[in-house]
Amino acid sequence: MESLIPSLHVLRLGHRRERDKRITSHLGLTARAFGADSFVLSGEEDPNVLETLHSVSERFGGNFQAKYEEKPMGWLRRFAQKDAGDGEPGVAIHLTMYGLPWKETIPTIPRDRPIAIVVGGAKVPGEVFGICQYNIAIGNQPHSEVAALAVFLQSWLPDGADASNFSGGMTVVPMESGKQILPSDDSSE
Ligand code: SAM
Repeated sequence: MESLIPSLHVLRLGHRRERDKRITSHLGLTARAFGADSFVLSGEEDPNVLETLHSVSERFGGNFQAKYEEKPMGWLRRFAQKDAGDGEPGVAIHLTMYGLPWKETIPTIPRDRPIAIVVGGAKVPGEVFGICQYNIAIGNQPHSEVAALAVFLQSWLPDGADASNFSGGMTVVPMESGKQILPSDDSSE
């Protein structure tokens, strides 16, 4: 059955291959684990980040997509103003320490359209503040894009980190002590 929740995408601006390789991978993994449908990488092209995300999705299941976008401003403008994938504009939300307080603002965001969550790395172009319909702060102190994304998604999705359906992959069995992983449906046949 089709999901009733509109699609949710994370756009990573300004990736720097050497400096950001771990944090951008962590950002993508956090996007996946906390219920996003896709991760859009921009800045320097980096097949390693995309490979990490594809490999985790293959092993642990779900339908998470990750791709590189050479022209993120064009992608964002199109998403917010024209076509979020179904021919109508979506809602773009920029996470920034300069934005409005998240607890008050998140409940005012429409939930019936696809959303794109934009996070920066190197200096964020000023036009991002104008293209996005919402500029939201997870507190007004500088911290990390990974932390900001996790807090936002945990608050946005009803079950936060437990929201996603990762069918088709290996399953971790929660336990008090030790580790157990069940093989995916495919490999257990
Ligand atoms: N001067 C940047 C800014 O606008 O927040 C700080 C760069 S920070 C290392 C990289 C990204 O983390 C930012 O572009 C933003 O998306 C996110 N970020 C950092 N602190 C945040 C906060 N307090 N609220 C929301 N997002 C934050």
